[in-house]
Amino acid sequence: MIIKNAEVNGIIKDILLEKCLITKIDNNISGSNFYDAKGDALIPGLHDHHIHLNSTAVAINSVNCGPPDISNEIELIEKLNYPGHGWLRGIGYHHSVAGEIDRCWLDKNGPKRPIKIQHRSGRLWILNSAALKLIGNNKTPDGRLFDDDNSVRYGSEFPDLKPLMNTLYSYGITGVTEVTPSNGVKEYLNYIDKVKLLKIDIMGRSDLTFSESKYLKIHYHEPDLPSLERITQEIKSAHQHGKNIAAHCVTRSELMLVLAALEEAGPVEGDRIEHAAITDDFLINWIKKLNLIVVTQPNFMAERVDTYIKDVDDFEQENLWRLKSFINSGVRLAAGSDSPFGNSNPWFAMESAVNRPRGFENEALSPEEALSLYLKPPYNAGGASREIKEGATADLCLLNMPWSDARMNLNNIKPRATWIGGELVFNGVN
Ligand SMILES: [Zn+2]
Repeated sequence: MIIKNAEVNGIIKDILLEKCLITKIDNNISGSNFYDAKGDALIPGLHDHHIHLNSTAVAINSVNCGPPDISNEIELIEKLNYPGHGWLRGIGYHHSVAGEIDRCWLDKNGPKRPIKIQHRSGRLWILNSAALKLIGNNKTPDGRLFDDDNSVRYGSEFPDLKPLMNTLYSYGITGVTEVTPSNGVKEYLNYIDKVKLLKIDIMGRSDLTFSESKYLKIHYHEPDLPSLERITQEIKSAHQHGKNIAAHCVTRSELMLVLAALEEAGPVEGDRIEHAAITDDFLINWIKKLNLIVVTQPNFMAERVDTYIKDVDDFEQENLWRLKSFINSGVRLAAGSDSPFGNSNPWFAMESAVNRPRGFENEALSPEEALSLYLKPPYNAGGASREIKEGATADLCLLNMPWSDARMNLNNIKPRATWIGGELVFNGVN
């Protein structure tokens, strides 16, 4: 295929795609199989470096139970009681809506259907009596199940990924890193079978072999943090098996513990910190010293700013979801959505990185820096940004405007077409 009249790095060119690769970039390449880009910008396909595919696919069929859609008890009750049948699955709950709701609250206020509601943290499920009965749980009277995704799952084991993949393609996404800590062999085989062309890098449990997963996901939370010795040993063992680690670090203590353990174990090229939601200058320098990669979520600042202003200590506010300071310090930075906990549209996240909420602007990025967070190679979030050049893999995204317009309108970008390995996987009508 030939992509004609595409803007590549500011210049209009024709691009020839053959056998998964860009084989020629020139003026006036002729041929009958072509796509007219009409002067719009062609960029490398985007990679979401932190996503949970199965739960995002399920979330597409779920009701949102938290801010900004739902902000109080009356709205929540109304939402839960929309007509419907079968399981009712809620997501995104936050205690600011109606407090610490439990089984009794759901039995009293919800419909007579099995209901399960996931807290925004992703760690807590709240079930009503009908749901507890169906999953055979009679040992959790309040219906609040922590870190117990497996027992909450009911019915078909894996959701249909096709609608989600089509959505990702429509954003120009050509690859993802699936980071769910509970990923084991079954999940690995299902992903490999279902994602087809989408490039996928999978993280997961320690029993995945190196050929299945190049990363061990380390996922501890305050207040249940393990000892420094234990986490150091876990990191050492992953390294001995040739794996990198990717450590979930949202709070200051989580990050400090992981950095201390990595220092003790000895970091290996490719080790990653996920989120780094709270990072002061001292911690940024420590991350730099250990030569770690940070995978951030610029979308959260826009999505959760009201809660942060209320809940995060004043002295930590300036340390929230920093971006520019990482780049200025020479820390390698990439981004992912953390969907379903964050918005899966990377253009929304890029807009959030460029136009940060008032009071948080000093960590803003340029549009080009924001884009670069999604151009790091699949399988290597710390690598150099991919470019459109001869010999590169034909994973491509055609925007609906030239870059000079797009950079001012990130939130309004709706890609026209997406190719993976030279194959057209999305063709919009705009
Ligand atoms: Zn995550």
